[in-house]
Formats: sequence, structure tokens, C-alpha cells
Amino acid sequence: MSTEEQMKERRREYARQSYQRRKQYFKDYYRNHKERMDDLAKRHILGYRKRLVDLLGGKCARCGFSDYRALQIDHKNGGGRKETLVRGNIQMYLRYLKSPEEAKLHLQVLCANCNWIKRVENKEVKHK
Ligand SMILES: [Zn+2]
Repeated sequence: MSTEEQMKERRREYARQSYQRRKQYFKDYYRNHKERMDDLAKRHILGYRKRLVDLLGGKCARCGFSDYRALQIDHKNGGGRKETLVRGNIQMYLRYLKSPEEAKLHLQVLCANCNWIKRVENKEVKHK
């Protein structure tokens, strides 16, 4: 092998290693970044949820329970299957926060207990 070929070989090897390192770096970066983003999104969602709960009266429409931790946003007409207010659905929160009238028309705040009772009453869940 000539010196020139050796040089080329070394450069190729170096390039390959640095490619691997970069790949690993971006993988790690993405993973860390993603966790931060998820965290951020979660905090945003919590803020939006609280605002929407406030907009809708800030307490359970049935029993008046007012601890945010157990309050849920419920679709009055059981439309929850089509339009779920699941965690992560920021668009939904934003849409309703922008149009309070629409929110009050379609949504209500229920505590976890009343929400379950409503689902059983509406036969949305099978009651054993
Ligand atoms: Zn309640």
C-alpha cells in the first residue's frame, strides 16, 4: 500500500468514525430534546386545561367540587369519542379557549366521580 493509499484509508476511517459520533450525538440530543419538549407540552396543556376549567365555571357542574386535580372537561352530549380532550390535544384547547361561547355550549366541567357516574348513566361504559 502506498503512503497515499494509507492516507486515504485513514481519512475514510476518520470520516466513518466521526459520522458514527455525529449520529450518536444527534440521537442523544433528540432524546434529551424530546423529553424537554414533552415536559413543555405537558405544562402548556395543564395551563390550557386550567384556563378552560375556569372559563367553564371552575367547578363540577353536578356537585360543585372544585379541586382542579380531579376536575375533567366533559362533552355534554357524549361526543367525547369523536372529539376527545385527551392530553396532548392542544389544538382542541386552543379552539375552545378562543371561542368561549362554543366552549360553554359543548363542554362542562365534571369531577372525576360525576364524570364516571354520567358515563354509567349514559351507558357509555359497561357497568358490571
Ligand atoms: Zn362532581
